[in-house]
Amino acid sequence: MDMGDLAASLDTSVAGIAAKISQGLRIGRDEARWLWTNASDAEMRSLAAMVRGRFHEPGSCTYMVMRIINYTNVCVAQCDYCAFYKLPAQDGGYVLSHDEVFAKLDELLALGGDLAAFNGGFNPHLPLSYYCELFAAIRARYGDALEFYALTIAEFMYLADHARLSYAEAAERLKGSGVRWITGGGSEILTEEFRARHSKFKYTVAEYFLAQRAIVEAGLKTTATMVIGFDESLEERLEHLERTRQFQDQLLSSNDQTGKNQTGGLASFLCWTFKPYFTQIGGIEISTAEYLRHLALCRIYFDNIPRIRTSVLTQNQRALEGLNYGADDFDLPIEDEVTQKAGATISLDFERILNYARELGFEPEYRHVSLGQQPRRADES
Ligand code: SF4
Repeated sequence: MDMGDLAASLDTSVAGIAAKISQGLRIGRDEARWLWTNASDAEMRSLAAMVRGRFHEPGSCTYMVMRIINYTNVCVAQCDYCAFYKLPAQDGGYVLSHDEVFAKLDELLALGGDLAAFNGGFNPHLPLSYYCELFAAIRARYGDALEFYALTIAEFMYLADHARLSYAEAAERLKGSGVRWITGGGSEILTEEFRARHSKFKYTVAEYFLAQRAIVEAGLKTTATMVIGFDESLEERLEHLERTRQFQDQLLSSNDQTGKNQTGGLASFLCWTFKPYFTQIGGIEISTAEYLRHLALCRIYFDNIPRIRTSVLTQNQRALEGLNYGADDFDLPIEDEVTQKAGATISLDFERILNYARELGFEPEYRHVSLGQQPRRADES
C-alpha cells in the first residue's frame, strides 16, 4: 500500500483522529490543519504521546552535550534572517584554524560532551581541501571519542557547486575524509515561496532534497530540521511537514527495494525557533506555547521519523516541556554563534536543566551519537 493511502480518509474530530492513530494510521494535511486550529493543548499532547509511544517508552528521553563550531562567518548567501554572516570583503570575517577547532573540541570533551556540529557560511575562499583536511584531521586526532556533524546540507551544496562536483561526488569525497553525518540544516521552511522571499541564494527545495538523497545514497547519515517563527504561514509549515514526510517515505522505500540506503533515512527531526534580534527582517519571537504546540503537531505527523528533538538552544529550559508534547531528545549546547548573535542565550548549568526534565517526569539518558544509540521501543524489554 502507498503510504499516502494510510491518510486517505479525512477525520475532523479529536476522537476520530485518536482512533486513527491507535490503529497505526497517519493523519493527512487537512487533519493537521484542523488539529492546529481546533484541538486544545491537552488534546495535542495526548495525540502526540500516542505516536511517541510507538517509538519510546513513556518517561524516557535522551540528550547530548554538544557544541556548534562556526568555522567561518564569511558567507555570500545573504539570507535576510541571519545576524551572523559577513560578506567576503567586510571587516570581522574569520576562518578557524585547525588548532582553534581542536581547542573547541577539547573543551567540549572536558565538559562531558562528545558531539560537534560544524556550521559556517558559503565562503568562496574555502576550497574542498579545507573541509577534507579539517575533517580528516579531526578523525585522526579523536577517532570515535567524539562524533561530528560535518556541515549542513545548504553548506554541502555550496561546497559541491564551488568545487564543480556533483552532490554524489562531493559526498564521496567527504566520506573519504572521515565524515559520517551531514545534517539537514539550512532547511528553515521548505517551500519555494519562503526561499524566494528570504534566501534566494540558498538553493531551491527541489535541490535541497536532491542533495540530501545523494548524501544518503553515499552511505552518510542525515537528519531533518525546521525553523519556525519568521513570517511563514500555517500552509507553509504544513507543506514543510508534508515534503519531509514524503521524502522519508521515499528513503525508507528505496531502502527496502534496493538496499542502497542502509542508513534508516532521516534519523531525527529537530525544530527550533527564529531569533530575530539584529537581523534584517527583525520581528518578534513566537511564544513557547506556540513552539510546543508545533512540536506536538510534528510528532503526530511524522509517523516515519523515530526521534523528535526539542531545542534548548532557542527555548532554554522550557524546551523540555516539549517532552510532554511528543519530543524525546534534546541537546545541551555549549556554543552556537549563529543563534547567539541573534539573541539566543546558553546556560552551562546542565544539572539544573536535567533536573527540570526530571521534575516533568522524565529520566534523561545520555545519548552517544558515535555509538549509533537507537530509541528504546515501548514494546522492547
Ligand atoms: S543563514 Fe547561513 S547561508 Fe544564510 S546568510 Fe547566514 S550563514 Fe549564510
